[in-house]
Amino acid sequence: MIVENLLQQLSQIGFWTQLLIFTLENGILLLMAILIGKVIEPQNTVLSIKDRKWVISSLICNTLITALGFKMYQLQIIRIDFSPSLTSAVIDTLVLIILMDFFMFCFHYLAHTLKWFYPIHKLHHTHIKTNVYSLFVLHPAETLGFGFIWLILISIFPFNYISLIVYLFLNLMYGIFGHLEKDLFPAFWHKSLITKWISTTKFHADHHKNEAHNFGFYFTIWDKIFKTSI
Ligand SMILES: [Zn+2]
Ligand SMILES: [Zn+2]
Repeated sequence: MIVENLLQQLSQIGFWTQLLIFTLENGILLLMAILIGKVIEPQNTVLSIKDRKWVISSLICNTLITALGFKMYQLQIIRIDFSPSLTSAVIDTLVLIILMDFFMFCFHYLAHTLKWFYPIHKLHHTHIKTNVYSLFVLHPAETLGFGFIWLILISIFPFNYISLIVYLFLNLMYGIFGHLEKDLFPAFWHKSLITKWISTTKFHADHHKNEAHNFGFYFTIWDKIFKTSI
């Protein structure tokens, strides 16, 4: 009930204060990502001057998506299951991860195949050698696109609140690990029957080196099914 009460209290404050809180929240997540990059690979975690504006625009877009999501929650377009059920939290987290990965795979595949979309996505591919900042070097249209996929999906089903928090945390972590230069995944990962279906740093790094392959984010399965895997 703590989360439900927090959202209730947030509803009672003015829009601009809400926006300030959402900016701080997204700013803290951005700083956390940079900190992880600085700890794991300090020499590679350098923000170039030309990328500064994209990192800031991604922060603004993520804040706008948070504000829009909160408005949709207030209007009951997004409904949240606040029951403290561990079973529904686990099932909903798995459903969110699988569905989001599939929709993002499709979105990413279209970004590479549609003539009007590729010039937008091309910005992310200015980073052939990636670092943690690459995650935020995205055109605003693309950041908003990913955000809309998220908001549409959580409008369709009332997901458990724990699953929403866990998914957002895992999504950020995977975004960070996918763009580090250093591969944190052990060598057996790519061969083991269970783990080989889960994406690694190398999997997304290979996409930055060869754009015709590896469109998935959390799993390698979609690329295997659609024969786009390296
Ligand atoms: Zn990338
Ligand atoms: Zn791409």
